[in-house]
Amino acid sequence: MSQKIQCAVLGATGAVGQRFIQLLEGHPWFEVTGVCASEKSAGKSYAEAMQGRWKLPTPIPREVGKLMVQECDPAKVKVRLAFSGLDSNVAGPIEEAFARAGVGVISNSKNHRMDADVPLLVPEINAAHLDAVKKQKFGRGGFIVTDPNCSTIGMVMALAPLHEKWGVEKVSVVTMQAVSGAGYPGVPSLDILDNVVPYISGEEEKMETEARKILGSWKDGAFKDAAVTVSASCNRVATIDGHLESVSFALGKQVSAEEIKATWRDWKPLKALKLPSAPEQPIVYREELDRPQPRLDRMEAKGMGVVVGRLRPCKLLGWKMSVLSHNTIRGAAGAAILNAELLKTKGYV
Ligand code: NAP
Repeated sequence: MSQKIQCAVLGATGAVGQRFIQLLEGHPWFEVTGVCASEKSAGKSYAEAMQGRWKLPTPIPREVGKLMVQECDPAKVKVRLAFSGLDSNVAGPIEEAFARAGVGVISNSKNHRMDADVPLLVPEINAAHLDAVKKQKFGRGGFIVTDPNCSTIGMVMALAPLHEKWGVEKVSVVTMQAVSGAGYPGVPSLDILDNVVPYISGEEEKMETEARKILGSWKDGAFKDAAVTVSASCNRVATIDGHLESVSFALGKQVSAEEIKATWRDWKPLKALKLPSAPEQPIVYREELDRPQPRLDRMEAKGMGVVVGRLRPCKLLGWKMSVLSHNTIRGAAGAAILNAELLKTKGYV
């Protein structure tokens, strides 16, 4: 009998769900024993349900391929942890039902991100927010922890160490977001080929509010937002994976480019914990004038690294830079797995 923690993937058939299945293969602590999706996919083996839908270059792990896809019913799926890549139209109540059944839920959906007792967790930045879990009332050891929107994560990772040291006061961000961010089949090819779509529903609001919670604090039993003003403009572009962002920002202190780069280089907040999915170097700065680029840089540190480049003065806010992160790995499944690793290390699982 395996000593690993048994996990389910909710929304296992989607773009994020299949990343979970891929990244959890051979994980030293977690084992996928349940795959759940809608009634449309349920009742088939995972391999059968994914005929024509598995879009990753590695094969479906053999043991997972044999699992029967089930509907998202916690009475039928007995696990300790559930990784959720559910469509946000259904994620909220399903995740709550799993938490009430004593399951630790780690979600990629927007539904619970801004709840007053739910951490919007980025282990490198706000591990102290985990205390909020103690306020949740699901009982039986169940809880919900969320990770940020795929466009928020790269920006906050690059800003967090600067915010810790000097305070980030204002941010203006323009995104170039990959099509896999819209799930599968996502944006119709006739809408996105030879094109840029200057609108992604709800995305700008998420970047503007989530960043404040993530960079904020947990004090006296409540989250306190960081005093950062963020203005976001989000665009869908014809790349497959990897969100590239142009970020301008104002710091609370006059510092040099060298000090900023050194801060990124030295920022290794998870080093001592040795979490299996944590990148050794969470922020990689590239000196080349034309980097980061999605095709070349999205797999930095197996997709868990955030790549920054083009740091230069900005006439409006002081500084500007380019930031890249892999949206279904660092921006979704990989981030959730890192959260689960932190939860296990801190004794929540
Ligand atoms: P997706 O490809 O559309 O997958 C959605 C999943 O939800 C599928 O497994 C689907 O199962 C399941 N589902 C839909 N309706 C259901 C129902 N009524 N009951 C049970 N399961 C149901 O979407 P995605 O891109 O993976 O995104 C999943 C979530 O992660 C969303 O909330 C999204 O906002 C968030 N997210 C996505 C990204 C990204 O880069 N794609 C990044 C961060 C966060 P069936 O196949 O059976 O329909």
